[in-house]
Amino acid sequence: MSGVGKGTATASIGRILKEHGFSVTAVKIDPYINYDAGTLRPTEHGEVWVTDDGGEIDQDLGNYERFLDIDIPRKNNITTGQIYKEIIDRERKGEFLGQTVQFIPHVPEEIKRRIKEAAQYTEQGASRYHDFVLLEIGGTVGDYENLPFLFATKSLEVEIGRENVCHILVTYMPIPSHISEMKTKPTQQAIRTLNEAGIFPDFVLCRATRPLDDVRKKKIETYANIPSDRIISAPDIKTIYEIPLNFEKERLGKKILERFGLQPRKVPDWNRWNKFVSRIENPSSRITIAIVGKYVDIGDYALADSYISVNQALEHAGAAADAGVDIKWVDSKLFEKDRSRLQELKNYSGIIIPGGFGSSGVEGKIAAIKFARENDVPFLGLCYGLQLAVIEAARSIGMDGANTTEVDGKTKYPVIDVLPAQKQILQQHLYGGSMRLGAYAAVLENSRVLDLYKRSRLSKDKERITKLSADKTQLFRLGILNKAKNVILERHRHRYEVNPKFARPLEKSGLVFSGHHLRTDKTKLMEFIELPKHRFFIGTQAHPEFKSRLGDPAPLFLGFVEACRE
Ligand code: GLN
Repeated sequence: MSGVGKGTATASIGRILKEHGFSVTAVKIDPYINYDAGTLRPTEHGEVWVTDDGGEIDQDLGNYERFLDIDIPRKNNITTGQIYKEIIDRERKGEFLGQTVQFIPHVPEEIKRRIKEAAQYTEQGASRYHDFVLLEIGGTVGDYENLPFLFATKSLEVEIGRENVCHILVTYMPIPSHISEMKTKPTQQAIRTLNEAGIFPDFVLCRATRPLDDVRKKKIETYANIPSDRIISAPDIKTIYEIPLNFEKERLGKKILERFGLQPRKVPDWNRWNKFVSRIENPSSRITIAIVGKYVDIGDYALADSYISVNQALEHAGAAADAGVDIKWVDSKLFEKDRSRLQELKNYSGIIIPGGFGSSGVEGKIAAIKFARENDVPFLGLCYGLQLAVIEAARSIGMDGANTTEVDGKTKYPVIDVLPAQKQILQQHLYGGSMRLGAYAAVLENSRVLDLYKRSRLSKDKERITKLSADKTQLFRLGILNKAKNVILERHRHRYEVNPKFARPLEKSGLVFSGHHLRTDKTKLMEFIELPKHRFFIGTQAHPEFKSRLGDPAPLFLGFVEACRE
């Protein structure tokens, strides 16, 4: 079922195979009809993940990137909507002329084509295949909507040979509180349902609150004909980064390789990974951060997953700084109802305003930013967080009623606005087209932001840009138009920008614009703001959390966590 941990299991297996010396990529299959996750409700589906190439997809791709330490393109997310759209588009173009277009063979064929496409990458102009492609099929075995995908993987197995495909089932083992006994029945049922689709799992990963005992392993072996050494225990853990280590305790990597008749290409080295995991679990100091955002409940439950990457970036930064980060989700609407509650922000080492859309809770967020600025509390603004900090700065120097046109279309001081070129696109109702999505380059001025990027990422991004130097379309797409120094790449997902007309006047508030993106029409878009006199007050138009990894934290998050710890 969803939420059981298929994504982290897939990512962990990927990491394990990578540690054994193989090249790995991962694909997420989402059986819903939405074309992508861009229009899904984040409070139900978790955060929307943004890829370098501008895809808006399921957050599981985030886990793949974080565990595998590679950038995964949008083509690695396959939805039912995309499959059918492709087939219908081709039918309309007349490509099937004379044929009846049917579920079988056309749907599985298109799914297989997409899987093969995702398995490839280009190196020095040549197309190659990864050693392993991990294919995560979302949903529950037996759901109507994932049947086409199960059918396609079965067909792929027939096509490329049983020896080249390994099926892994992730199941849930409930422990009903009134009997306190772990039940294997749902797992047995799931295996049977999978068998009906012609798929015989090679491994079963058993998710449960507690580790699986030998009695239960034996039970599954007897009832489902899966050898007990291929039934792997996957108990709840403190941090998801412990999962590959746990799997390796059961030698999962070697067992999977054996299944393919392969030998390890190198001896896995988990030292660094281990170090960070133990720091996450037993840090030498602790800080508490308030993430002031908009929270929408679904029934009786609120989903913390809406900011999962921010969460993860804080964990990575905490691991690097050896500080445990406790996160408190603070609903900004609270401050709108009762200003005195702002004083509660004194209890935190730092404040983050994450990305967001719309007017709900905005004034509360602005009040929290004002509090951070006036009380010298470390502040990090992400995307909407930067925009609202700019509004707060404008209001502080007498631009009363300054706002973003997203909230107030008639404001006298539209310090955040859509650019004229985007306005045209919006008038045609092409909302997706008016977004700045994916990786974009920013040129950094001498500043604290630059200092932070210099510590880690600057050289890595420089290397990437040098690699791309022959690819003019890519450079153009990223906005690398000249040979500027100190260029970094971060991912974006927003429609509004700091209004260039106000950049100069806003500097009077003490705000420094410390990085910009240069558009082809020569417009400078503001990418970073900071208050140099403040303990730590930085905002970014990007979402640096998408590029943060264990062992390589996002520079701004690391700086923020260090400032909070101090
Ligand atoms: N709503 C803002 C915009 O569209 C910010 C988006 C975000 O925070 N991701 O520009």
